[in-house]
This record gives sequence, structure tokens and C-alpha cells, in this order.
Amino acid sequence: LEPWQDPKAKPYVRIDRVTKKFGDLYAVDDVTLEIYQGEFFSLLGSSGCGKTTLLRLLAGLEYPTSGRIYIDGADVTDVPPYSRPVNMMFQSYALFPHMTVEQNIEFGLKQDRLPRRERKERVDEMLELLKITPLRKRRPDQLSGGQRQRVALARSLAKHPKLLLLDEPLGALDKRLRENTQFELVNLQERLGTTFITVTHDQEEAMTMSSRIAVMDAGQIMQVDTPTAIYEFPNSRFVAEFIGSVNLFEGKVIDLQGDDFLIEAQFGGLMRMRSLQPHPIGTPVVVAIRPEKLRLCQTPPSNGGVNQLKGVVEDIAYLGDVSIYRLRTPNGPLVEMTLTNIQPRTEQVLTWEQEVWVEWSPTSGVVLTD
Ligand code: ATP
Repeated sequence: LEPWQDPKAKPYVRIDRVTKKFGDLYAVDDVTLEIYQGEFFSLLGSSGCGKTTLLRLLAGLEYPTSGRIYIDGADVTDVPPYSRPVNMMFQSYALFPHMTVEQNIEFGLKQDRLPRRERKERVDEMLELLKITPLRKRRPDQLSGGQRQRVALARSLAKHPKLLLLDEPLGALDKRLRENTQFELVNLQERLGTTFITVTHDQEEAMTMSSRIAVMDAGQIMQVDTPTAIYEFPNSRFVAEFIGSVNLFEGKVIDLQGDDFLIEAQFGGLMRMRSLQPHPIGTPVVVAIRPEKLRLCQTPPSNGGVNQLKGVVEDIAYLGDVSIYRLRTPNGPLVEMTLTNIQPRTEQVLTWEQEVWVEWSPTSGVVLTD
């Protein structure tokens, strides 16, 4: 049982109806969130949605317009940043340019008046952990972006904080280094047992690293869940479209048959979809289906005309391991099909302007009402 599924588990961080206004702008709008010890929690959203402000509220760098913040059971809303059991790693890394790597890492420990021997042990531990021991005598201007990022992480972790807040921790790295570092960061976090709350606008990064993700839009939390649940069971059209690619089929509920809803699709056919939510007859809905949940057929599927759509191959993008096919269909928007090129190939190669059908099962997507 994960802590967030356990009604008896106590959250380590609790954000209780927090709002932050800048003038008339609601940067954070009535947010409630519970984060548990040892989580790698990501705040995900596009630029300006309020992620950084929420992180700064946790750190104590902003004071909420309303609402309370609790860390480890204590109300810290009125506690200044330096007295919170929190450390923050900034987007810019903010290393001291005139100090060496080891002096940078040691800085916070000195401020905390840790004895010299312990300081040295911690610095060595961090250098080792982040594999930067050979760089210990260098200054930040003698480091690459990726190395600077490691030093910044080492410095944030040296105090062994229970809670580390990271603002776009991998933002300055190129794609390759970023992908490698994602796994390292998760490893590191698991080994130290630190609770990480990170801000990112990169959905792949959030999917790879997080125990749970909060998807934000315009200061509000749209959905909080595991990467799998957010991908497979988005709770709204916004989340469905924000995470990964998706096919949306609009329609209207016309009947309930057992667990399935019969939906008259705008593209002209019928859909039969399972849904945990009740949808009264007449409700306008949108069915969201991930591309890989669609099956491609070169002859008309024999499912009585339900959950199927005829199309024509309009675009083919060869990406090596897979090819992406875009179809022109009566649904208007193109359906994206990803077919693997890995041998032995189970699917037929499609050609441009070829007529095909897609079909799907009642459990392959979600029925959304907004
Ligand atoms: P990004 O990914 O671009 O950093 P974000 O999701 O982190 O974006 P925030 O930095 O939290 O967004 O900003 C949320 C909103 O609040 C934005 O519209 C921003 O312009 C505004 N904002 C942030 N800080 C201030 C401030 N000190 N004064 C006025 N407005 C602010």
C-alpha cells in the first residue's frame, strides 16, 4: 500500500487551501495537496501556471494570501525560510563563483556550525555520491553545466534535509545528459530517503522520475496521481491533452448497457465505452484514447460498426524503432498510430493514401465530461 492510498498515513507536507495573489493575479489558486515522506513529487505545468510560486511558498520565500502550510505535522506558515526543515535548489544553481566545489558544498554546514570533522565527512560523502570528487578544487567557472548542476545538488543535499525543493533541477542540461541524470537523481533520492518536490514543465521528465505528479493549470491543481494513472486515467480533457498524445472523440451518451455507455459519436458511428463515472443519457462527452490503444486493420473490423473508424494514411514519419502514421478520418483531427518497426514485424507496412480502419475496446480509454 502506497502512503497516499493509506488513510492512516500522515502526510509529511500538507498544503491546505493555499492561495497566493500578486495584485489581481491568482498565481496559486486554492491549492490543497498532501505529500508523503520519501516521495519524489513533481509539480508539472506550462510556463506561468504557478509551480515556482507554490515551491517558494513551501520554502517560505513567499507568504500565502490565505491558507496554511504544514511540514512534519507543524504549521510553518509563519516560520521564516531558514527555520524550516527544507532546502531549496534553484533553477540558476546559484553557486558562489569565488568558492571551490568543496567550499560551495561546505558552506551551509559551516553556517549550521557543524564541527570541522563532520563537515569534511559530509563533503566527502556528497562528492562521492555525485561522482565529482576529482572536481573538488575547481571553481564554478571551470565546470560544465552538468557538473555545476551536480555541485548544486551536492550542496542542497549536504545538510541531509528531510525535504528538498528543486526548481527545474535538470533545466540546464542537454537532452542526453538530462535523461541519464533523471535516473541518477531518482536513485540518489531513494538511497537518501529525502522527500523531493520538484518543479518541471517537461512531462517526460515528470513521468520518468515521480512517485506522483500534480498537473497544474492557471494556479490550480487539475489532477494528482501516479504517472501511470495520470496517463491512463486522465480526469479531464486538459490533462488528457497535456500528458502524451491522445485521440479525442466527441459524442453524446444515448444508452447505458450493463457497465458500458453507448455513445453517439460526432464522426457518425457508435462507441461503447466503460466508465466508472455516471453519465446520464444525453450528456455530451469526449472519449479519450491513447494512440497505442487503437488497433489498426487493413480490412473492415467485424465488431458491428461500434468503436471503429475508417481512415486514409495521410502522413508517415519513420523514427527508426517506430513509425508514426497520421490518418485522415471523419473525426476531423488525425488519429496518430505508432507502429513498431522491431522485427519480426507483426503489422503490415502501410503506404501513403492507403485505406485503413482503427478499432478499440470499451476499456481502452476514458469518458470525460470536460
Ligand atoms: P515558469 O515555468 O515559467 O517558471 P511557473 O509555473 O513556475 O512558470 P510562476 O513563476 O509560479 O509560474 O508564476 C505564476 C504567475 O505569477 C505568473 O503569471 C507570474 O508572472 C506571476 N508572478 C510570479 N511571481 C510574481 C511576483 N513576484 N510579482 C508579480 N507576479 C508574479
